[in-house]
Amino acid sequence: MPRQTPITVLALGGNAILQRKQQGTFDEQYENVRSTATQIATLVDQGLRVVIVHGNGPQIGATVIRHEMGRTKVPPLPLHACGAETQGFLGYIIQQSLQDELSKRQTSKAVATVVTQVLVDRNDPAFKHPSKPIGPFYTKAQRDTLLRERSDLVIEEDSGRGYRRLVPSPDPKAVIEDEAIRVLVDDESVVIACGGGGIPVIRQGNRLQGIEAVIDKDLAAERLATSIHAENLVILTDVEGVYTNYGKQDQHLLSKISRDELERYAKKGSFSAGSMGPKVEAAIRFLRNGGKRSVIANLGDLGRAIKGSAGTQVTN
Ligand code: ADP
Ligand code: MG
Repeated sequence: MPRQTPITVLALGGNAILQRKQQGTFDEQYENVRSTATQIATLVDQGLRVVIVHGNGPQIGATVIRHEMGRTKVPPLPLHACGAETQGFLGYIIQQSLQDELSKRQTSKAVATVVTQVLVDRNDPAFKHPSKPIGPFYTKAQRDTLLRERSDLVIEEDSGRGYRRLVPSPDPKAVIEDEAIRVLVDDESVVIACGGGGIPVIRQGNRLQGIEAVIDKDLAAERLATSIHAENLVILTDVEGVYTNYGKQDQHLLSKISRDELERYAKKGSFSAGSMGPKVEAAIRFLRNGGKRSVIANLGDLGRAIKGSAGTQVTN
């Protein structure tokens, strides 16, 4: 039997769905997704096997606002259930856009979104230090009322703009649905999975249970790429790649780099914790865990990034 084409996991950054200056209407998100889908469909049409992971920062924030503001009419859902809602909504528009683009090209591949849970460790130190702000801004009075109802929440002042809920961002350990995803990919389906970093769950005896947290999507993409034995992890964002001295006069794009050298830069603290840091960490982990190539590139350069001629190309 001929060897199957290698698998590529594509991690889509926030701007693939919503650009920074946009409001977040359905139409805006739909249009952005359609143009991303056009690029991905071209690659699928050329025979690439892909799994798509996407972020959900603005969307889960909006979902939490809907639940919080509607609480006098219907009970709000917990954060992990909000995460599941965003996977469904975003999976739906990515899936539909890809189906349309593939049928234009007369490619008969199936496209499916998998609602994905990602296991975290309940003893992860991140649970003691919630760091990720999400959802609406509250006044002090609103905060006090909320805390009386839900003493488990952490709501802190966010840079002078009001009070905001902080949630933990624990390290992803394993993708619960990885085997199902692998079966779909082996069958040549295009899969959308681990949306928003996956729904965070912990194991309680022999049961899984959702937990209030938001997992980084780049680190979750690495877990998935590793467990389904992907060859490439391609992280797409809104900059050309990884820079040293980013934002300074002498910033320099790292175009081809070994894992060791990238690790040395990371150890020196060259990459910011909330943005480039996790991408670099995901790239390094993937290569350490058996991956062949990690790429961090601009979304608009997807085709060239896959060919090896754009972005930061990292190999062992
Ligand atoms: P995404 O939605 O794709 O995850 P992020 O905002 O989390 O996007 O990360 C991409 C951002 O990382 C860039 O827009 C850039 O401002 C920032 N960044 C921080 N440090 C670096 C660096 N060393 N090289 C390139 N970009 C960097
Ligand atoms: Mg990010």
